[in-house]
Amino acid sequence: MKSKMLRDILSLFFFVLVAISAFGQNTPERIHQDIKKQTAQIFDSLINIRRDLHRYPEISGEEKRTSEKIAEYLIGLGLEVKTNIGGYGVVGILKGAKPGKKIAWRADIDAMPSTAPDVVDFESRNEGVRHICGHDVHTAVALGIANVLSSQKEQLEGTVYFVFQPSEENIKGALAMIDDGLFDIIHPEEMYAMHVTPFPTGTIATKSEEMFSDYKQIHLSFQNVTDNKALIAFAKRQIRGLENVAPESKFWNMQNMGDPELGIAAPNSIYTNFTTVEKNNFSITETENKLEIRAFLSFSDKKQRDSAISNLKNQILASPYADKLIKAALVDVFPTLDNNEKLVNACLAQLSTIYGKDKVLRMYGVVADGRSDDFAFFQPKVPSVYFFMGGSNYEKGIIAQTHSPNFTVDESCIKTGVNLFSSLIVERLK
Ligand SMILES: [Zn+2]
Ligand SMILES: [Zn+2]
Repeated sequence: MKSKMLRDILSLFFFVLVAISAFGQNTPERIHQDIKKQTAQIFDSLINIRRDLHRYPEISGEEKRTSEKIAEYLIGLGLEVKTNIGGYGVVGILKGAKPGKKIAWRADIDAMPSTAPDVVDFESRNEGVRHICGHDVHTAVALGIANVLSSQKEQLEGTVYFVFQPSEENIKGALAMIDDGLFDIIHPEEMYAMHVTPFPTGTIATKSEEMFSDYKQIHLSFQNVTDNKALIAFAKRQIRGLENVAPESKFWNMQNMGDPELGIAAPNSIYTNFTTVEKNNFSITETENKLEIRAFLSFSDKKQRDSAISNLKNQILASPYADKLIKAALVDVFPTLDNNEKLVNACLAQLSTIYGKDKVLRMYGVVADGRSDDFAFFQPKVPSVYFFMGGSNYEKGIIAQTHSPNFTVDESCIKTGVNLFSSLIVERLK
């Protein structure tokens, strides 16, 4: 009798434990369901916002209308809004009802000069300017996240900062915002951003450390040269020789970057261990006593970069031009994105648990083109991760190849972005 009672008490206790832990698991699950619901409700309005921004694109430094639209939307959501930071930069501050971390989400807002005709029926009405880098999509996604997370304010633990950055295309905006006191206004513990890419819509991707190849310029200087022509030919040959990708390789067809077997998200990616040279883009300066040769190179990793310049130096020093060499250096052209490894692992794990592994890709290779993103200037200040968001729909012939004259986006990616990145911020705040 006694033992039955004990058993009953024990099983009741066990039941309560299970119920408590189930409830504990249901709560985060429910917030992600709510995020999906709210995203679906505002999806059409986000498309309208994106198309409006697309119709009135503004180039770097001139994003007046765009920033006014952003500020208006954020104020409408009840966020604390700061404007004119580093030009037309806007910051929205969303304070959750519960205590927690501080996380920043950055979106770039500028468009690009382009005289090629627009390929959509909501074409640009600002002559010579177009959104061919998808920053209209980035802005719409960030506003969508702000909307969705505002609707979850009561459950939200911590503070979310929305950073709308101007002048990304001329690599000035991030530094301008920092110089204008961005980090006196906001104090993020982590920072995130994304860019649309030719990956299929519905997916996002990232990797630790570099996302893009390291784009550098080589500077070689010689003095007291007697035969400029011969030296130029020699130097060009040595620089070209640094390239390690065969001319007929699949590497050169940019379409292959999204290939599931070979592309940058494939474990056997062909976009690793490479050094490439812009073989027809040398610049030569000849003065009376000096000869300067410059060329652009891309490196997939630091080791190859460092060994390339020392190999080049050694070859020159072993040549008849050894005593003429006065400088051999690699000079930065673009900032290099460098994702925080710990955060990348945490983000990929959290997002694939909620949305599935097929939507959340880990990249193994780096983008061959090193012209990356000035989000890199925020990275030394705050642990951060930069994501790619798929914008293509191959069946519909929509290829989100940024900077190409016929750049288009499958707008369903806006839904993916708002869903996944809202969920990510909720998880990271904890
Ligand atoms: Zn761009
Ligand atoms: Zn861009």
